[in-house]
Amino acid sequence: MARIETPRPIRGTQDIFGDEQRRFARVLEAFDHVRKLYAFQRVDIPVFEDTQVFARSIGETTDVVSKEMYTFEDRGGDSVTLRPEFTAGICRAYLTEGWQQYAPLKLVTSGAVFRYERPQKGRYRQFHQIDAEVIGAAEPAADVELLALADQLLHELGVAEGVTLQLNTLGDAETRDAWRTALVAHFEKHRSELSEDSLVRLDKNPMRILDSKDPRDRPIADAAPDIDAHLTSEAGAFFEKVTKGLDAAGVKWTRNSRLVRGLDYYRHTAFEFVTDRLGAQGTVLAGGRYDGLIEALGGPHTPGVGWAAGVERLAMLIEVTHRDRLDFVIIPMGEAAEAFCTNLIADLRRRNIYCDMAYRGNLKKRMQRADAAGASHAIIVGDDELANGEIAVRDLKTGEQVKRKLAEALLPGAGATYTFLALTKGPEGLAAGQA
Ligand code: ATP
Ligand code: MG
Repeated sequence: MARIETPRPIRGTQDIFGDEQRRFARVLEAFDHVRKLYAFQRVDIPVFEDTQVFARSIGETTDVVSKEMYTFEDRGGDSVTLRPEFTAGICRAYLTEGWQQYAPLKLVTSGAVFRYERPQKGRYRQFHQIDAEVIGAAEPAADVELLALADQLLHELGVAEGVTLQLNTLGDAETRDAWRTALVAHFEKHRSELSEDSLVRLDKNPMRILDSKDPRDRPIADAAPDIDAHLTSEAGAFFEKVTKGLDAAGVKWTRNSRLVRGLDYYRHTAFEFVTDRLGAQGTVLAGGRYDGLIEALGGPHTPGVGWAAGVERLAMLIEVTHRDRLDFVIIPMGEAAEAFCTNLIADLRRRNIYCDMAYRGNLKKRMQRADAAGASHAIIVGDDELANGEIAVRDLKTGEQVKRKLAEALLPGAGATYTFLALTKGPEGLAAGQA
């Protein structure tokens, strides 16, 4: 028979397993915990949308829309796109589902997002984000709350050390127009030194040159005029309220006047949590205020602010992982023992006892696997012992093993079933049991 070749995984996708998966799960658990502390509701939205949802809201000139989207025609001839981020889909849902009635709405979501990028460490084509948004709140208090949530999450994950919150303001519309003019004048002077990408940005969205990673652009971007000279008093006051609020909430921040965000519709607050522990992929969490976005989707003027973080990048920073709880492993040796244990373990699991059964290999192998799986004790049931009404309980850490009378450890229940008795801790007893 001809050898069948196994299809390869798609470039830039991941199979997340073992320790990596535990880190990943921990990020999501901590996020779910913190969002509850801050009274944010969870939503779930589609993985794909009408391409217009992203093209209009993220902005045609951004890298995401111009070169990173997974866009295809479906069988009906409609152009659909796999979500490259969450904000656009959430804002679309806000309008089409009539969620305006709940404003201001504090929402979180998480899941897979897709971007056609060059894969490298910390950069994938299918990756995962956690996302938090406040829609319908124009108050700087919303920005402060979102940043405090992010900060608390990083602390809860134990990664806050070495991660800095960099904060900037992009001002209001008037500020941006004035700043834009100053930026264009500056970049025009250096036209011949700019990268090709930045020449396009110069015509379409000059602010985004500040965000360029191209080494040719960096010195010119770094020498560009600050927004501060152009801030209107309203925009200045808004920013001050955000920074004062962060100080009051005990959230550390630093000003980075070079920081702009990819989205065309950002206003006022823009921020990134950055670390130098992940090489070039140092931004773990990023966001800002997008007061023009919902209008771009055809809705009424609606303020919004939010952030997203890469789950993989956060997971890479986590040091400790906790294994899933496993109280003990049952090891049947022999046919009668296996039948008995099949009944026993079903009963234990129905009683919320975290346990597993090892049914492959010799006794030593099974105990090694039980230990490696993180169980503290093994319950060994042999045919002969069973006939004598006994089981053995082994402490997998110390190797200490004691015989227990079945009648003391387990109570016969109705029919052929056994009921878990008082497997309490103690020199004689089984570990980790509760009946
Ligand atoms: P970058 O500058 O690294 O490309 P970005 O500005 O495109 O990031 P955002 O759109 O702000 O990223 O997405 C929020 C977060 O998602 C980022 O801060 C990062 O942690 C994560 N992220 C973005 N792109 C990827 C990717 N291709 N693979 C893994 N994580 C990513
Ligand atoms: Mg990017």
